[in-house]
Formats: sequence, structure tokens, C-alpha cells
Amino acid sequence: MKLALTLLAMLFIAPVAIPSEREETKSSRREEATAIRAKTAKEGEKKKTARPPAPDLSARIKVLEQENLRLRQEVAKASGVFGAAGSEAASPAGALAELEAGNNRFVSGTRTRTQMGYNDAALRAKLAQGQAPFAVIVTCSDSRLGDNFIFDQELGRLFTVREAGNSPDIQSLASIEYAVEHLGSKVVVVMGHESCGAVKAVMESGPTPLPGNLWSLQAAMPGLLESVHHPSGEPAAAYLSHLVEANARRQANAVLTRSGIVQHLCAAGKLAVVPAVYDLASGKVKFLPALPKEAPSLEAHH
Ligand SMILES: [Zn+2]
Repeated sequence: MKLALTLLAMLFIAPVAIPSEREETKSSRREEATAIRAKTAKEGEKKKTARPPAPDLSARIKVLEQENLRLRQEVAKASGVFGAAGSEAASPAGALAELEAGNNRFVSGTRTRTQMGYNDAALRAKLAQGQAPFAVIVTCSDSRLGDNFIFDQELGRLFTVREAGNSPDIQSLASIEYAVEHLGSKVVVVMGHESCGAVKAVMESGPTPLPGNLWSLQAAMPGLLESVHHPSGEPAAAYLSHLVEANARRQANAVLTRSGIVQHLCAAGKLAVVPAVYDLASGKVKFLPALPKEAPSLEAHH
């Protein structure tokens, strides 16, 4: 009888007193989930305490920005950025010197004139009254040739003519003439660049006309391929590099020979035409010797 009672008790009590395996798993999962929730909440707390309160951060940013502005104004003042136009607007030599100095700033990562965002509104207001760019830059349309950056010159300082292959057509010549005669620019820099796609296309196509309107690039570089000796075995990259430099010289010559206005100003010592080549990787502009004051023959530079 006692045994029977015990068995009966076990039947009713056992399911409650001894949890089944399934229930055990359920409860351990619940515990696990609670533990994860607790851990996540704790981590969240930690993160909250690690991050400084928002008002403090914005106050710190403001202090840093003010300090940054003060330092940049000091640098700009020390480098003579503010004030009236300097020697760059007075002579071809002065203009070239400022382009060289600006390019050095660009190469060394110390751009100054194009780092003055705080001055933009005042600059726009001043330039709305008129412009007097001290230099004309004739260069390629290539997206890597932003001349304001390359020469570290803000708005109003450079008059830019851009054509694929830096090969000015008749309207480009008109633009150059407008700048040198009406705006008083003191130097015309005709700047090619390493790995120029336009020169490369002309090089690779040879006598075969390029498709679409691209044939005009070949027409704009007459005699270029014949002007550069290409020894057998010379790598294509080296040949292209020679062509790029020759093209910059020849296009600079073309500006001088095709424009009476440019010739006249050069002869009077009021303007210089300077070929140059830009290196994409270093950012360095290699200025080639300025052209003679009298219009040279296109065949003079090989
Ligand atoms: Zn190019």
C-alpha cells in the first residue's frame, strides 16, 4: 500500500519536481537571453559613458575652428596673400615667379591661397566688380589638371583655356587675346601633362583618322609625330613623354605665330609665352624655356 502511494505520488509530482529535458533547455535559453540582454545593456552604458556629452564636443569643435581660422589668417598674412596685387601683376617674370611659388606650395601640401574658405564671400564681392588675372593657363581638359589647385591661386587670378591635348583652336586664341590685351595677363603658360590621353590617341592612331570628332585632335597637332625621333626599342611610355613635351612647345609656338596681339605684347616685353609639362604623380610643373620674343618657326623646336 505504501509503495502504491509512493508510485501514485511520483506520477503526479514527478512532472513538476523533475523538469523534462525539453523544459530544461527552454529555461536555460531564457537564462541565456536574459544574460545577453544584461550584457548588451551594460555595454551600452559603457559606450554612453565613454562618449563625451554632445554640448561639450560642439564647444570644443568651435574652439578648434576658431584657432584654425586664426592660424590660417596668420599664414595668409605672412605670405602676403591679402592686399593689392603684387609683382605677379607687374611683369612676365613676376607672374612666372608666383606660378612657380604656388606650384611649390601645391607640391609640398601647403596650399595657402586656395585654403581660405572664410574669405570666399569677400572675394566674390570684390571680383564681381572686375577681374585682372595675372596669368593665362592653356592646358588639357584632363580632370586631373585643375589649374587653381596646381598653382594654388584663388578665383580671379588665372584665366584658363582648356582643350584636350592643350591644342588651342581659333576660339581659344581669341580667349587668350582677350586675357592678355583686355585683362592685362602677363604670362601665357601652355601646359601639357604626362600620360596625356589626347597625345596618346594621336600617337597610337598614326595616319589613321580617329573616330567621331576626335580626328580634330590629329588636325590640331600637325607634324607632331614626325617632329620627335622614335628609336626602335624605345618604350611607348618614353616616346609618349617626349611627344607630350614637344606638343607643349609646339602649341606654345602656335599661339605666338598665330596671334599678332600676342606677338606684339611679347616683343614689347609685356608678355611671355612659356611651355610647361605637368607631372600627375608629383604635382610638379616643369617650366620649359620661354619662347623668344619674335615669332619663331614651328619647325624651330624639335
Ligand atoms: Zn591630356
